[in-house]
Amino acid sequence: MLPSAANISIHRLLRYDLHLHSRCSDGVLAPAALVARAAVAGVDILALTDHDCTDGIAEAAAAAHAAGIGFVAGVEISVTWQEMTVHIVGLGIAIDDAPLQHGLASLIERRRERGSEIARKLAKRRIHDAYEGAVALTGGTVLGRAHFARFLVQQGYVSTQAAAFKQYLARGAAAYAPVRWAALAEAVGWINAAGGQAVIAHPTRYKLSNGKLRQLLGEFKQCGGAAIEVVCGGQAAHTTAHSAQLASEFGLAASVGSDFHSPDTPWLEPGKLAPLPEACVPVWRDWSHAAPTQLS
Ligand code: AMP
Ligand code: MN
Ligand code: MN
Ligand code: MN
Repeated sequence: MLPSAANISIHRLLRYDLHLHSRCSDGVLAPAALVARAAVAGVDILALTDHDCTDGIAEAAAAAHAAGIGFVAGVEISVTWQEMTVHIVGLGIAIDDAPLQHGLASLIERRRERGSEIARKLAKRRIHDAYEGAVALTGGTVLGRAHFARFLVQQGYVSTQAAAFKQYLARGAAAYAPVRWAALAEAVGWINAAGGQAVIAHPTRYKLSNGKLRQLLGEFKQCGGAAIEVVCGGQAAHTTAHSAQLASEFGLAASVGSDFHSPDTPWLEPGKLAPLPEACVPVWRDWSHAAPTQLS
């Protein structure tokens, strides 16, 4: 463990990436392969944040240890807020926490039910066996729309995953099936009770009006939220500046994450993130547990 004064200066220099997916949710790499890729790309501290699932954490932690980089146990929880889906990342969670795992299990079950509904809607459009096809493309427990998108591409119904979302899977599209995810306070509560920090993922990607985004940030802060992602993969500099301003206005810390899913999206590769603006309070300010092993 590092002395705290050293932490502050060293942690400013380290390269963090605190939002990545493995094939345990809708990423394509195994947890160990993901960690190896991030380490080669120069990431010093990494968080695995699969959707509603922590199954990849043990493998990723072991791979990070072997590669000599820091590791943070994470998750990206699906939340319904005002009839919209919002993603809350939990960082530094105890994955054996029973209420957290109970909550995640209920979300994974809702994902299965939604998967059946999506498949029913696709069948009406003469696209058959989509449920089995999508499940066959999962590497773990979590079934997501991305698996349906990959199925639709593989079967030649569309040429890209983006087209699959646009035509079939996005809100309002032909096979869209709504889900009631966790409530905001519920997800933040699970994360905090498991000893973690709650972070609003990609806050500017929700197509919320400025007023609604501020309402979300206010409610999030009030129910115990810690941070927002200020630097997200592939984001424009002016968006980062806007998010930094919002973080400081709401007294929230700042996180950084590529949201890497697959080597097919090179603009979201791990470790390619812009530095956090100077004025931000990093979400890792008080961390000592995540120091890379070569520094501890
Ligand atoms: P789900 O949590 O199963 O509803 O799926 C959400 C995931 O789908 C996101 O985390 C992205 O990985 C992926 N996704 C959402 N929109 C698109 C899109 N337009 N193109 C490709 N992938 C998308
Ligand atoms: Mn995803
Ligand atoms: Mn997300
Ligand atoms: Mn994500």
